[in-house]
Amino acid sequence: MEKVRANLVEGKLDALLVSHLPNVQYLSGFSGSAGALYVTPREAIFFTDSRYDLQSHEEVKDCSVRVSRGDGFTAAIKLAARRRESRIGFEAATLSVQAVKRLKELLPGKKLIPSINLIENLRITKDPFEIDQIREAVKLGSRAYEESLPLLRPGVMEMEIAAEIEYRMRRYGGEKPSFETIVAFGERAALPHAKAGNRRLRPNEFILLDLGVILNGYCSDMTRTLFLGKAPRKAAEIYRAVLESQQEAEDAVRSGASCGSIDAAARRVLNRRGYGKYFTHSTGHGVGREIHEPPRIGARQKMLLPAGAVITVEPGVYIPGYGGVRIEDMVVVQDGGREVLTPSPKELMEL
Ligand code: ZN
Ligand code: ZN
Repeated sequence: MEKVRANLVEGKLDALLVSHLPNVQYLSGFSGSAGALYVTPREAIFFTDSRYDLQSHEEVKDCSVRVSRGDGFTAAIKLAARRRESRIGFEAATLSVQAVKRLKELLPGKKLIPSINLIENLRITKDPFEIDQIREAVKLGSRAYEESLPLLRPGVMEMEIAAEIEYRMRRYGGEKPSFETIVAFGERAALPHAKAGNRRLRPNEFILLDLGVILNGYCSDMTRTLFLGKAPRKAAEIYRAVLESQQEAEDAVRSGASCGSIDAAARRVLNRRGYGKYFTHSTGHGVGREIHEPPRIGARQKMLLPAGAVITVEPGVYIPGYGGVRIEDMVVVQDGGREVLTPSPKELMEL
């Protein structure tokens, strides 16, 4: 909250309307699903509706709490209309067109200033408490993954495996998956974001599992690719290339390294091995309260990684009609190095 306030002064804003729920939760401690904040350099007011009366009074810290009949965001705008602050920032990347229309109608005399990623950029650097939360979420994800391995037998459906993984996430205390679990067999592993369907597992093909869980408000994200049977030369070669690429990129992570340099490290290996054109997405992303949050670990991204950032490193090779391999870990950026959070082994596992 102190940093947000300093940013308001710097950005010449009198107040900021915070509407994006992960930002509201991050700043206030509120865990419910409807709330908004009105932050000025001196004051922070949290708004929610009557469903969250009790909960907000228990959870919200460092803000005064106002419970309204209607939705909290409208109540925040109405308060802004009565106050003297005139330059009011709003979260332009996530607010709906309709909500912006309402802002303009209810705040005719104010200067409305679109603000993008103000709080997201502060969220990039995690404090030790947050890193502990993320570490626990990562461990839970790895446990659900490892327990699903004995179920990978010929004839099993992708969606059965997804269900087994997600059941375990919940069973062990997770809130929900941080995204729809990806289970892709054979040629479907060539789709970076395959949806688990009714495809059945056959011998001698790749199995790609990409999963994450939300625990205590923080997300995890991991990918492993396995082979059912003894991997033939081509499959083993692709796997080795991706593993080397993933390892090189991970080894490049340290505070002060640019996001683009991590991406370049991953790409260099795959280019050298002749698979560069099959690596069709960026190397990673930040993870925290949201599964995808800044920074983006992509080509030519100039941002320098700060210590405390938590990112994924996840190069992949996708060959249409054949299959694909992706390996994804979560990594904490440290001074002079990194901590790899994901404990699951990465050597090619032949089931
Ligand atoms: Zn993933
Ligand atoms: Zn990811």
